[in-house]
Amino acid sequence: MGSWGKTLIGVPRGTILISACLIGVNCRYDGRQKIDRGLLTRLKGQGLLPVCPEQLGGLPTPRPPARLIGGDGFMVLQGMARVLTVETERDVTSAFLKGAEQCAYLAGILGVNRCILKARSPSCGLGPVTGVTAARLITAGYEVVAVD
Ligand code: SF4
Repeated sequence: MGSWGKTLIGVPRGTILISACLIGVNCRYDGRQKIDRGLLTRLKGQGLLPVCPEQLGGLPTPRPPARLIGGDGFMVLQGMARVLTVETERDVTSAFLKGAEQCAYLAGILGVNRCILKARSPSCGLGPVTGVTAARLITAGYEVVAVD
C-alpha cells in the first residue's frame, strides 16, 4: 500500500465520525447546533469527520422535526418502520435512508474506526430508540457511542 493509502484527501486513518451539531455546526432541524465543548476538548488533535445525515439525505436546514414511527432505525433499514415529520406526517424515510447510506459510504472510504453521535435524534440517536444512521453504522460494524 502506498502512502496515499494511509491518508486520503488529508483525513488520517483512525478518524472519528461525529455528528456535526456536536462540534458547533448549525445543522439541527431548528437551524441551531448542540456543541459539547468538553467533548471537543477531549477530541483535540484527533481526526474528525463531521457529518449531518439529515443534510446528507437532502433535507434543508431548518427543517420540520421528524420522528420514527413503527420501530427504531434498524426496523427502518428493514423497511418495517418509517420516519415522518411531527406536525404534517410527511414521509421523509427515503431522505433518512439516503443520509445513513452517505455516512456509511464516507466512513468506509475515509477509514473511520468509531462514531460519536448525538443522542435522542431519529438519525443519530442510540439507546431505547436507535436512529437510522446509528443503526446503519452499527450494522456496518462500527463502534458507535452517543452523547447528549
Ligand atoms: S443529530 Fe445528527 S441529524 Fe440531527 S442535526 Fe445533529 S448531526 Fe444532523
